[in-house]
Amino acid sequence: MSVLSTTNPDAYFDDRYRMVQAQLRGRGIRDERVLKAMLQIPRHQFVADEFKAQAYEDHPIPIGEGQTISQPFIVADGLQALALQGTESVLEVGTGSGYQTALLAMLSRMVYSIERHAALAKAAETILRGLEINNVKIVVGDGSNGIAEFSPYDVILVSAAAPAIPQALLDQLGENGRMVIPIGPQHSQELLLVRKRAGDATVEVMEGCRFVPLVGAGGY
Ligand code: SAH
Repeated sequence: MSVLSTTNPDAYFDDRYRMVQAQLRGRGIRDERVLKAMLQIPRHQFVADEFKAQAYEDHPIPIGEGQTISQPFIVADGLQALALQGTESVLEVGTGSGYQTALLAMLSRMVYSIERHAALAKAAETILRGLEINNVKIVVGDGSNGIAEFSPYDVILVSAAAPAIPQALLDQLGENGRMVIPIGPQHSQELLLVRKRAGDATVEVMEGCRFVPLVGAGGY
C-alpha cells in the first residue's frame, strides 16, 4: 500500500482532516485535487518534533535557517490558482521543508525545485524519498535565476518574496504558462498570478501575504 494512502491514516489524520475542512474548504478552496493532496501529504513530517503538535494549525512554522513552512491556506490558494492537471513541468523556487514540493509532485508530472540553503534541500530530499515521491529534482542554488537547463516550465511557484518579478523566471515560463509569486517590500507583499500568452505577461493580484525574502540576484 502507498505510504500516502488515505485508507491507512496516521496519528495526525484527524488534525489534517480538520485543517482541510476548516482552513481550506471553509475559506473557499474548491479544487478537489488540491484538497485531496493536502489530506494525503503528512505535513507534520516536514517540521521538527517540537513543532509537530502545531503542524496543522493556521500559521507558518519555523523550519531552521530562519525560514518557515507557509501557512496551509496560502499553500492551497497558490496551488489552486495554478490549476494543475497532472501533466505539467513545474519550477518551484524555495524548497524549504519540501512540503509544498510534495504537493506539487502529486499534482503535476515533474517538479524541479531550487533552494539556496543546502541543509534544507538535503532534509527535504530525505523526507520526499521516505514518502516514495520520485518525480522531484532538487537543486541547490539561487532560484531567482530559475533553472535554465530544464526550462521552459508550464508552471512556476515562488515561495519567497521579491521586489519585482525576476526577468529570468518570466523568460523560463512557457507559452500559456502560469506563475504564482509574492511581490513587494520585505514585510508585506501581494501574491500575484502571472499568465504568459503570446509572449506577453498579464498579472492578477490574489491577496496580501507575508513571505520570507528571496535572497539573490533577482531578489533582495
Ligand atoms: N514552500 C516552502 C516554504 C519555504 S520558505 C515550504 O513548504 O516549506 C522560502 C524558502 O525560499 C526558504 O527555504 C529560503 O531559503 C528559500 N530561498 C530564499 N531565496 C532563495 C533563492 N534565491 N533561491 C532559492 N531558494 C531561496
